[in-house]
Amino acid sequence: HNITCKFKRVLIKISGESIQGRSKFGIDINELKRVVCEIKSIVNLGIQVGVVIGGGNIFRGKELVNFGVNKVISDNVGMLSTVINGLVLHDVMRRGSVNVHLMSSFPINSMCEIYHFEKAIRLLNKNHVVIFSGGLGNPFFTTDSAACLRAIEIKADIILKGTQVDGVYSSDPKKNNNSKLYKKITYNEVLRRELKVMDLSAFVLARDYKLPICIFNICIPGILRRIVEGKNEGTLIQS
Ligand code: UDP
Repeated sequence: HNITCKFKRVLIKISGESIQGRSKFGIDINELKRVVCEIKSIVNLGIQVGVVIGGGNIFRGKELVNFGVNKVISDNVGMLSTVINGLVLHDVMRRGSVNVHLMSSFPINSMCEIYHFEKAIRLLNKNHVVIFSGGLGNPFFTTDSAACLRAIEIKADIILKGTQVDGVYSSDPKKNNNSKLYKKITYNEVLRRELKVMDLSAFVLARDYKLPICIFNICIPGILRRIVEGKNEGTLIQS
């Protein structure tokens, strides 16, 4: 075990978008392989890794609702999308010689096991990666909420939320040239300034349990490794 690492156990949130790569829809396998290499680089340091996988590259509940589909059904479809991503992520990791397990919040017996926090912790203690798919298994939530809740349940030291941008900005950098990237910011400052980090219920949960969140750009090679070595990459949110 490498003693220079800052964290023992981390929860990585991978959005659907970040494995979509250049594809218009679904998964760009080369992009997924790159993300897997990033994750593998920190597993090899002895860090325990849980992964919450999103589904936005396939279906987001919101989008279907806009076409008149029932909200609960739409969210169910969104949650199934995360299982689809989970299945492929699991397979790519396994082929990359990572000890990895896929869990889902709801039962799909023939494809993966059902989530149980103690089982997950047992596997993490053996340095196996555990992928949490299916979100929370309830409509009206997101995989960000799942990331916060699972991180608290498995007692992760931090949530590492991979995005397509470098971190949290004071305003939308695409619209405002003067917007600045925060290196560090408190939970309450994020709330006060109404900065968009993740959905509010998830964010407040993280604050209440003093679970630090690092928002980082998953497209930058080697970034996960630098984060766990304690380098100030992306934006660190804490109290
Ligand atoms: N979802 C849900 N409950 C959950 C997690 C996800 O209903 O606990 C649905 C929701 O419709 C969401 C979709 O699944 O839009 C995909 O998840 P998310 O949008 O969080 O994926 P990401 O943006 O991270 O790819």
